[in-house]
Amino acid sequence: MINFHPMFTDLQLFAAGNCQPAMSLMISAHIDMCPKCKKSCEEIQIQLASDVFKQTEIAEPLGKHYISMMSEITSLPSAYRIAPVEDVTSIELDGKFFELPRTLRRHVKNTGNWSRLVGKLWQAPVDLGEIGRANFMYMEKGGRVPEHTHKGTEFTLVVNGQYGDGISEYESGDFTVMDSHHNHLPHSQADDGCLVFTIIDQPLHFTAGIARLLNPFSHLFFK
Ligand SMILES: [Zn+2]
Repeated sequence: MINFHPMFTDLQLFAAGNCQPAMSLMISAHIDMCPKCKKSCEEIQIQLASDVFKQTEIAEPLGKHYISMMSEITSLPSAYRIAPVEDVTSIELDGKFFELPRTLRRHVKNTGNWSRLVGKLWQAPVDLGEIGRANFMYMEKGGRVPEHTHKGTEFTLVVNGQYGDGISEYESGDFTVMDSHHNHLPHSQADDGCLVFTIIDQPLHFTAGIARLLNPFSHLFFK
């Protein structure tokens, strides 16, 4: 069950098309996995559309027919809308295939090779063009990211599996935003490990043990 969702104010910005690109991509991918937020967004969009139509109606009473037609179109269930077909629907690591939410499928072609980092951790960089860079991170069972805080913002979406970070436990579809107020230690004890998609706008800052020696280099990985 998904327990961590974007804040409602961010869903409102997203639905109105006013989100920052990185946040927008993460919310879109979360919505692919989360019927609750999908419904909220559709309701916000219907409300936004009806506000616009009301204003138009006052200005132009003769356009009523057009307005009701547009209302019907925008309130159609999304299953009736035509969605582009993506060829690649999953990502592979070491013979294991992970199904991706629709929003992430179009980025598979811009995903680099997996590299194995310390601590049973795998990383594949994703070039998002103007948005910057993201990563698929895979924690094997027992895998962990050294304890760290953030200079910037870290968005994470669990694509498949479960992990914990000393603050909470997360599973498929969970969406989190961490910043300098959060110090955490992501680790997975799930038998099948955990695949996440993450965007970090500044390098991580390691806070404990020998991993602190990595700080001068942390921009080379984990970003
Ligand atoms: Zn949600």
